[in-house]
Amino acid sequence: MPISSKSIILSALIIFFALAAGCSKEELPLDTSANKLLVIGLDSADWRLLQPMLDEGRLPHLAKFKEESTYGRMRTFYPLEKSPLLWASICTGVEPSVHGVANFVKGSSQKPVQGSAWFAPAIWDILGAANRSTCLVGMWTTYPARPINGVMVSDYVPYGSNRDKPLAGLCYPDSLAEFAVSLRVDAEDITDEQLAMFIPSDKVASVREKYPQQIDRLSSVLAGDLTYLAINRELAKGDSYDLFFFYLRGPDMISHYFYNYYTPEKGNYRHTDEDLATFGEVVEKYYDWSDKVTGEVLSWFPADRQTIITSDHGFYGPRDTGDKGSAEHSEWGVFLVRSPLYEAGKSFDYLELLDICPTMLALMGLPPAADMPGNIMSSGLTNQGKIRVNRMEEHRVETYMPLRPADGPAGERDAKVDEEIRKQLRSLGYIN
Ligand SMILES: [Zn+2]
Repeated sequence: MPISSKSIILSALIIFFALAAGCSKEELPLDTSANKLLVIGLDSADWRLLQPMLDEGRLPHLAKFKEESTYGRMRTFYPLEKSPLLWASICTGVEPSVHGVANFVKGSSQKPVQGSAWFAPAIWDILGAANRSTCLVGMWTTYPARPINGVMVSDYVPYGSNRDKPLAGLCYPDSLAEFAVSLRVDAEDITDEQLAMFIPSDKVASVREKYPQQIDRLSSVLAGDLTYLAINRELAKGDSYDLFFFYLRGPDMISHYFYNYYTPEKGNYRHTDEDLATFGEVVEKYYDWSDKVTGEVLSWFPADRQTIITSDHGFYGPRDTGDKGSAEHSEWGVFLVRSPLYEAGKSFDYLELLDICPTMLALMGLPPAADMPGNIMSSGLTNQGKIRVNRMEEHRVETYMPLRPADGPAGERDAKVDEEIRKQLRSLGYIN
């Protein structure tokens, strides 16, 4: 990035802080832990599934968090099934035509889209310019990991069979790669005991034999989530980052694979009673497990850490039409925010996906840019929140675009890894 454009942003931020300091005595200095933020991204989480579970007394960590938060529905946009595009919109606050992450794969060769596709600065670039740090692990379209102020572990850790030699560019800094790979859990490592969290515990051995494909799918999703959970767990030690972005991809993949056993009356499935008895509860039980994970992630940080829990879209499950892709997804995701800026236990009707980035920035004490279409969430604000949000909205920085990523490391194009990714995307119904 040219030095001059970076310095324009920095001077805009300095003017902003000067104005902010003059405006009110409410504001704390930016580098205090009060301006730190934890984000827990639960891919495809949907109140339609979660609320009945909460009503049954399940998901205790989410239930407690909800009482401490302002919460409601998050309206996403089409194409609903394209998680990479939606997460990149969450992280940049701009539309796909601006940030450039448009799909899972590119062109007729179906090469997986890599990190070079990001054209707009993400929140970690903006924070970096303000000398604030980020820990980002396993986010879509982050291979090869590029330099940020903090650490970035790409989404390619689960791929590639050669453990001894990590792919180039797997992590930033590079020195993290061996550590990340050493924590990798593979599908073959998943034990009967772990599978018994999701399928009837007395039948695991026979289910392994009778349903190898389903077991392979369940095991590989769990292995990916366990890998990234372990990496996050280590990186959270010492609470060194201003933004800690935890992302759980599994709930979406599990919904793709197993929702048809959960709502067998929809869609055209010929499941036997045994199929249904075996896999009928996988989706809900994966959310039970995700709730435990959520509880653990929250426990890594002080109880008053500002925290957002969000999905990128909801999940509807199979349709009577048998349509896949967008049809199975819902435009209503979930959003919860716990912060002194928002009232506890207060619900709102909805916010838009593009409101998430301005809201994250505001929570961290930074103004959004004028070229971000979304608004800082205005529902459920406390008095302190109203003061902060008004000031941030009044003093938007013109643009953060000059902070757009410079070309990072070239990474490696490994044909076997590319095919592994395509195979997974095919099995999820995302590509043909
Ligand atoms: Zn998704």
